[in-house]
Amino acid sequence: MLETDSIKLLAAALESLDAGYAALPPPELRPPGVDRMGQVLLEAARRMRDNYPYFHPLYAGQMLKPPHPLARAAYAIATWINPNNHALDGGRASSAMEKEAVAEIAAMFGWQQHLGHLCGGGTMANLEALWVAGRLHPRTKIVASEQAHYTHSRISGVLGLEFAAVPCDAGGRMDVNALEKALQTGGVGCVVATLGTTGMGALDPLPQIVQLCRLHGVRLHVDAAYGGYFTLANNLQPATRAALDAIREADSIVVDPHKHGLQPYGCGCVLFKDPAVGQLYQHQSPYTYFTSRELHLGEISLECSRPGAAAVALWATQRLLPLTPGGEFARSLESCRSAALQLHQRLQQDPRWLAPFAPELDILVWAPRQAVASRISRLSQQIFDAAARLDLHLALVRLPAGMLTGGRAVFDCDEETVLCLRSVLMKPEHEAWVGRLWERLSRAADRALAGAG
Ligand SMILES: *Cc1c(COP(=O)(O)O)cnc(C)c1O
Repeated sequence: MLETDSIKLLAAALESLDAGYAALPPPELRPPGVDRMGQVLLEAARRMRDNYPYFHPLYAGQMLKPPHPLARAAYAIATWINPNNHALDGGRASSAMEKEAVAEIAAMFGWQQHLGHLCGGGTMANLEALWVAGRLHPRTKIVASEQAHYTHSRISGVLGLEFAAVPCDAGGRMDVNALEKALQTGGVGCVVATLGTTGMGALDPLPQIVQLCRLHGVRLHVDAAYGGYFTLANNLQPATRAALDAIREADSIVVDPHKHGLQPYGCGCVLFKDPAVGQLYQHQSPYTYFTSRELHLGEISLECSRPGAAAVALWATQRLLPLTPGGEFARSLESCRSAALQLHQRLQQDPRWLAPFAPELDILVWAPRQAVASRISRLSQQIFDAAARLDLHLALVRLPAGMLTGGRAVFDCDEETVLCLRSVLMKPEHEAWVGRLWERLSRAADRALAGAG
């Protein structure tokens, strides 16, 4: 079931890496406990069976995408050296590879010039972007939509900046009229636009947000941790395309290679349009940066130690699958979106379901059609459980009832929020599995209704 062909490539690559150090006398390493390694490793493997099959198309729940086998292998060979991309002393090759890979991501968004680097993930990347915003506009407020990632409000708190949530429309996108009001009230230093909300994959209307930020002289940060790579896809709605095309107007961008970029966890990316923000990071470290006068990644990053292996994995993946529209990687994203569109169409045509949200990316949110909100919530949970027993792994999301009804009398709102089913179809294989996912979902719904009836 698990991919193992890459192990052969790994052995060959390690031999090549080893040849680079052939001039040294053998170090005669003997790590403590090596004799018992096999036994412990098997024990770890057994423990790891207690996971959902994230690599399998029947896992269609949360944002979990298997890394590319090449990314896994490249990460692994790098750990034999274990470079630290904090400073060139710690990772010369991997720092150069990070700069190249990050420049390719910036170019994907249309930036020929930028300042940026990899970091632990989207949260760290957003922290850094909002830290820069706060340094440039001290004592101002950060605003993001109600559907923005929950960490924006927490990050603002960590940075000692006020945070306010802007209401969303029924599609889960930032309401630009509400944003305009917030900007007119004043005191806002940075607007966070989300391109691809974590809950439903909705994109805030960036072209209008850009105009408003310019008009009010406010900084614009784009959180595209999830959706950023879809800028390469050719099967988007016009509004989605327009939002992604406007990314280049942002002051900073966050995208997560460990979400849609085929990387193992521990790979986020932050980009700044103006390289001069690098000055904000200035520090005097008495103990790093000895062997080079070049710019170190550690001089433009809040984190110190970082895995050079993450950069090696990303560099290798982008070498294999360049970030170009029409390329293999772009096509794999188009398959994910196509899977979501096909499943949405089936849901819409079936009277058992409420499916008011046309997916903008590859995330679907829907619910069982019932007369009362509380009944929908209960049944969503039961279908989720029944599907898991059929090895179909979905996710759940709680949404304001108004988003599901769009203001119409679709069901009785005895609860303010409704529990809905959610599925992130982020594996390209999902496209070929739509029929099988649908068949299991239908069986799960029948069982839940029979059990509840
Ligand atoms: C996932 C996500 C984050 C957080 O990123 P992590 O890599 O999980 O830290 C932030 N914003 C959005 C829109 C996300 O989807």
